[in-house]
Amino acid sequence: MKLLSESLPGQERLAASFLAALRGRTLSHVMILLGPEDSGKSTLADFFARALLCTGDQPPCGRCGSCVRAQTGNHPDLHVLTPAKEGAFRVADAEALQKILSVRPYEGGRRVLILPNAHRMTEEAQNKLLKILEEPPSDTYIFLLATTLAPFLPTVLSRCVQIKMDRMEEEGILAYLKERFPDADSGRLGHAAAYAQGWPLRAASLMEDAQYWEDRSRWLDLAAEALTVRGKMELFRYFQKRRDELIRALDVWELLFRDAAVAGGNVKAIHADRQDTVRRLRENLKPDEVLRLWQATQEARAALAQNASCPMTLDAWLAAWPE
Ligand SMILES: [Zn+2]
Repeated sequence: MKLLSESLPGQERLAASFLAALRGRTLSHVMILLGPEDSGKSTLADFFARALLCTGDQPPCGRCGSCVRAQTGNHPDLHVLTPAKEGAFRVADAEALQKILSVRPYEGGRRVLILPNAHRMTEEAQNKLLKILEEPPSDTYIFLLATTLAPFLPTVLSRCVQIKMDRMEEEGILAYLKERFPDADSGRLGHAAAYAQGWPLRAASLMEDAQYWEDRSRWLDLAAEALTVRGKMELFRYFQKRRDELIRALDVWELLFRDAAVAGGNVKAIHADRQDTVRRLRENLKPDEVLRLWQATQEARAALAQNASCPMTLDAWLAAWPE
């Protein structure tokens, strides 16, 4: 199991039950891996695929020819299917899948198909796929990777076993980050672990995202300056034509007001490395003003999601600040 916990911490439970089903020959042929972006679905599917294709004693052994070929992306019976055209998986892609299944596996053993972004499959393609799902060849295992089940036809869902990615405790993520980034600032590690909301790979990619740390610092500074009239004008000017950036900044601000609201209690701060900013808000805002801003931030995000204009949203949000 060591092989998995290094590349994908937090999914040991799913891996163990998968391997038990594999040993007990009770494994389903079609599985949906369900979890948000960055939850590690493709890493887990890849682990499952290697376990299925492995010819060693303890799959995935990592040493047999099959494991080595799978690890280097050269296994002829491991297929990762991406749509021929950008975007949704269409009928032509489902036909390509049928074509793969029309011949025997090259190595005479099992065959694995992985479909990333399966939730973006058109209805026509799902109907085409349904024929395969009804009676998958006995040597074939199919993994559909999806962020949501909503777009799937009930007939497709009824033929799949659903595997939901496990969230990891914040402490676990923090320990993983400390090991992976031994020289990183502990405040940053704490923020990444909390911000990732249970997904360790998301936390790790945040640590590596220099742009995020730069942006977040600017957004927090701009928010703290909104305590003054001049600061409010500056923030408005900066964001009025930066819609995408505003959407991301609102996420960061929501957690800032949350930190300011709960500071002093037993709840851990999420912007742990920016206690100065949190303190400044607490010193200059009354508790009910902090709560109002927290709420206004959520409302601003909802308004943008419903296509409200950037200047209008900013006006409403800035109006929640005291004069
Ligand atoms: Zn092996």
